[in-house]
Amino acid sequence: MSLELVYYGHPALRTKGSTIQKIDHTVVTLVEEMIETMYLYDGCGLAAHQVGRSLRLAVIDVATAMKDRPSKAWKDGVVIDIESITPLVLINPEIIPLGKKTIYDTEGCLSIPGVSAEVDRSARVKIRYQSLEGKLLEIEAEGLLARAALHEVDHLNGILFIDYLPQKELEKHHPTLQKLQQTQRLQ
Ligand SMILES: [Zn+2]
Repeated sequence: MSLELVYYGHPALRTKGSTIQKIDHTVVTLVEEMIETMYLYDGCGLAAHQVGRSLRLAVIDVATAMKDRPSKAWKDGVVIDIESITPLVLINPEIIPLGKKTIYDTEGCLSIPGVSAEVDRSARVKIRYQSLEGKLLEIEAEGLLARAALHEVDHLNGILFIDYLPQKELEKHHPTLQKLQQTQRLQ
């Protein structure tokens, strides 16, 4: 079953997610439904907040975009196949930027349809998370995977990609954002 998305203006998008203490069947079902929802809307990532749940949980699929927007990942210094970690389920994730290099690239968000913009993000990151089986894992990532993980972990802290835009650019998107806010309020 797919879930209903919440849009810009929904309070859940501005909350800090709670840590998942126990990976029980409710969490497993939520993960399955979030993955289904991410695919239904053609997203490369989805945070629990975007389905109105304020939890430290996100799912990512960057394999589909591999041709146009490649990703690289390492585990213990060894390159790993992106397909083998797709869909990626991040429970209680933490992100540590590695090095000073940053890259500007286009981002969008399923909760803010109609808005896309260039965002400057760390080029390489370490992602520390729990798998659905409760294992503590650590991978390093570059490319779209690094960007998607940073974007999703931001969601878990109530941060949206538009928060990084310079005032002038944000103003350009004001009408779209206002419309989303109004629609969200009427629901
Ligand atoms: Zn998003």
